[in-house]
Amino acid sequence: MPTYKAPLRDMRFLINEVLDYPAHYAGLSNGGEATPDMVNAILEGAATWCEEVLAPINLSGDQEGCHFNAGEVTTPTGFKEAYRQFVDGGWQGLSFPTEYGGQGLPTSLSLFRTEMMGAANWSFNMYPGLSLGCINTLLRYGTEAQKSLYLPSLVSGEWTGTMCLTEPQCGTDLAQVKTRAVPQPDGSYKLTGTKMFISAGEHDLAGNIVHIVLARLPDAPAGTRGISLFVVPKFRVAKDGSAGQRNTVSCGSIEHKMGIRGSATAVLNFDEATGHLIFEPNKGLEAMFTYMNTARIGIAIQGVAHAEASFQGALAYAKDRRSMRALSGKKEPEANADALIWHADVRRMLLTQKAIAEGGRAMIYAAAQTADLMFNATLENDQASYDHYDNQLGFYTPILKGFLTEMGLEAANIGMQVFGGHGYIHEHGMEQIARDARISTLYEGTTGIQALDLLGRKVLIGTKGKCVREFTRIMLRLARANLFARGPIGTMARSIMKRAMEWNMLTLRIMLRAGKDRDLVGSASVDYLMYSGYVMMGYFLALQAEKAQTLMLSGKGAESVDFYRAKIQTAAFYFDRVLPRADAHRKSALAPTHSLMQMDNGSFAFA
Ligand SMILES: Cc1cc2nc3c(=O)[nH]c(=O)nc-3n(C[C@H](O)[C@H](O)[C@H](O)COP(=O)(O)OP(=O)(O)OC[C@H]3O[C@@H](n4cnc5c(N)ncnc54)[C@H](O)[C@@H]3O)c2cc1C
Repeated sequence: MPTYKAPLRDMRFLINEVLDYPAHYAGLSNGGEATPDMVNAILEGAATWCEEVLAPINLSGDQEGCHFNAGEVTTPTGFKEAYRQFVDGGWQGLSFPTEYGGQGLPTSLSLFRTEMMGAANWSFNMYPGLSLGCINTLLRYGTEAQKSLYLPSLVSGEWTGTMCLTEPQCGTDLAQVKTRAVPQPDGSYKLTGTKMFISAGEHDLAGNIVHIVLARLPDAPAGTRGISLFVVPKFRVAKDGSAGQRNTVSCGSIEHKMGIRGSATAVLNFDEATGHLIFEPNKGLEAMFTYMNTARIGIAIQGVAHAEASFQGALAYAKDRRSMRALSGKKEPEANADALIWHADVRRMLLTQKAIAEGGRAMIYAAAQTADLMFNATLENDQASYDHYDNQLGFYTPILKGFLTEMGLEAANIGMQVFGGHGYIHEHGMEQIARDARISTLYEGTTGIQALDLLGRKVLIGTKGKCVREFTRIMLRLARANLFARGPIGTMARSIMKRAMEWNMLTLRIMLRAGKDRDLVGSASVDYLMYSGYVMMGYFLALQAEKAQTLMLSGKGAESVDFYRAKIQTAAFYFDRVLPRADAHRKSALAPTHSLMQMDNGSFAFA
């Protein structure tokens, strides 16, 4: 079983040296407390807890899974105790407002913590993770009464939350939601319907579960314009905020899944369950979309978390296991064979994982700054700023969610490959990472849906390519500053410059063609998303390499020369051997739709 060690040195490098978080926090209304010492203490506290408490119950949690019995769900051994520690440690409230019992720190700090929790034990992370969406929805759209009733217990972690969107007939297409909400004379609603695949829908970790539910009012128009949002607690809440009488929402069963087996995925039956409307009638989906960016960044982190966990396992194994001799001659003559890590192909695998984890982490940390700035705009009542950062995060989100989860899955598969046949055996824990990672490209919108969101909504319709132009301007700044540099930094800078121009050109060409061929956006979108992801990751690896080079030469960095050199080498590897994949995606995105659409549905198979 791989031993998890939080990558604190890499995290600190990004926070302090690449993205200058100290200056970023100093500029936020809620950033004053996030001093470097405080940030360090949070990172170290979370790291120790993840390493010592969450990681040891990851494999056993997978083996044991969750159990369902007459509507009750039992989580795996150790989850209850770990959750108690999570609550007692005040971890849930890290970035939530102090008026509800939180610590009021910037959002980014919870995102850093999420990666560590997720890498140590993604199943466990799902329980507090789902609460975030619930809390954010209530914070932004709940009435004052709803906030004071639910938020203190959710923010402390005493209660957990869910997001109940999916129904048996629909996941992506929420226009098909059937759950009904009938108004009652006292202002409440009675909800009836079935929700499925509800993460943390039922479990034994918390005193109450607060469901955020999409449902239709009796007179609602058809489609997405007729969906409203409700809060429906498992135990109805008394005026003093305590959990009381059982509501008529029950767990019918839990799913038997490929991975994240310690996370309960429930079928929930609402049988005239009492709920209350959140936000305006028929505007439920609109409300959902505004917090979806941060929820999706949460899943993008899953990609990085699994890449990191799998890389750590594979690296340790590749240094320990021996096989044959390196092609360039014996490397460890005293041993009967050389360690796997000497073989070029094994190095290719390890460096790919490392680049995905480190490039992905930087992408997340940069987006986390935008999330902080967006929240800061709400604190300062600055709508224009809010809209600006909301649009920026809206552009990053589908790329991060779609690309990083696909890459996290690749990294997890590579980890198994480094282990050879042993990777396929349960006790080593590498196949669990691949099984756990598999869901990340499916939930919170599949990769296909992220790609349509990116190319259709964000790039073409929403901004006519402006969001790409804005990001490529950032790329060009780095490129121009290093264009004539010698060695790998100069090579990367020239590549970044070419890719920045190419990304804009690709966008323009698709935009021009999309007007004439209505299938083009759908046919090009996943390739466009992957292209965008590869280029964006290239930029963030080059940025790290450039910073590493500067600090190495100046001798002013907090890290060792070896650390900085490895940064440059990782980026150089990526530019040589991973980034060229972008060319294939660009070509494929521009291919005519004819070969994709011409086949009759009946001709797909001949029995
Ligand atoms: C373990 C697990 C946990 C989950 N947790 C939650 C949760 O907590 N709350 C919740 O509400 N839901 C949850 N879900 C549901 C999840 O979000 C959905 O399964 C997911 O959004 C996909 O919906 P679907 O399964 O209905 O697939 P479908 O919508 O039927 O899609 C099937 C395929 O068709 C593609 N497709 C669909 N429509 C289009 C289109 N218009 N254009 C192009 N391609 C399209 C999709 O990309 C996909 O490849 C969970 C699911 C699982 C398995």
